[in-house]
This record gives sequence, C-alpha cells and structure tokens, in this order.
Amino acid sequence: MNMKDIHGHCVCGAVNIMIKEYGNFVYTCHCDTCRRMNSGPVLSVDPGPKENVIFTRGKEKITIYQDEEVERGFCSVCGSTLFWHNPADNHYCMNAELFDEIIKNASFEAELFYDMKPGYYAFAGERKKLDRSFKEIKGKKEE
Ligand SMILES: [Zn+2]
Ligand SMILES: [Zn+2]
Repeated sequence: MNMKDIHGHCVCGAVNIMIKEYGNFVYTCHCDTCRRMNSGPVLSVDPGPKENVIFTRGKEKITIYQDEEVERGFCSVCGSTLFWHNPADNHYCMNAELFDEIIKNASFEAELFYDMKPGYYAFAGERKKLDRSFKEIKGKKEE
C-alpha cells in the first residue's frame, strides 16, 4: 500500500522534503562513494521522478556535489545526506532515514553494488543482491 505526503527532514531541520507517494521499499548501496560519504552503506528509497519529490523548506540550504552524471545533495548546515539525483533520467533516490513513516514500515529488499561491500559487515537476512553491473548475485548465504 502506498503512503501519501510523506514528510522527511535532515538532522538540523533546515531542509524539509515531502514525497508525494511511495510504498515501503528500502534498499542499500555498498559502493565506495556512498560508504565514504555516509560512513557506511546508505539506506535509500526510490521515489523516482522529480514530480514526486517536493522540497518544502530550505531548498537554498542544499549543497550539490556533482559526481560524474549524478548530483549528490546534502544539507549545508548539518551535513545530512539528502539525495542522489540523475537529471538525465529525471530520477531521485533519497536517504531513507529522513522519513520516519517509511522506516517504520520499511521492507528492506535489495543490496546494490554488493561486490564492493567490504568484508567486515553484513546485513542480517536475505534479499536481492546486485553487483556493480546490476547483475543479480546468487549463491551462498552469508552467516
Ligand atoms: Zn540540516
Ligand atoms: Zn552507492
């Protein structure tokens, strides 16, 4: 079931974001850039096109780091990771942890860039795992 008008905010509250409509799908990314920016694998939601995402407060407080073809946005006041945005595809992915309502109902369904995950941590449970070419990784469970 999709939730509507889902409100989120950064740590300091300067930036407020609303997703108009979304389910509870949460995924993580183990790539080097996400881990370096977030001190670990970022947990994300995928609200898709910019029409589904409204910056309700503090848009001018967002700093963009242009990372090749994508923009990574963070709060210039508190440093919270806000989003990953691909303008060519009109596609947003956002830090799931900004949205209390989503994380309450989260279904943790995929791990991306699994081949870049360091060995010292692993999430419990089983879910879809994709490598850096978005090919599914099948095989033995991690204990
Ligand atoms: Zn902030
Ligand atoms: Zn990543």
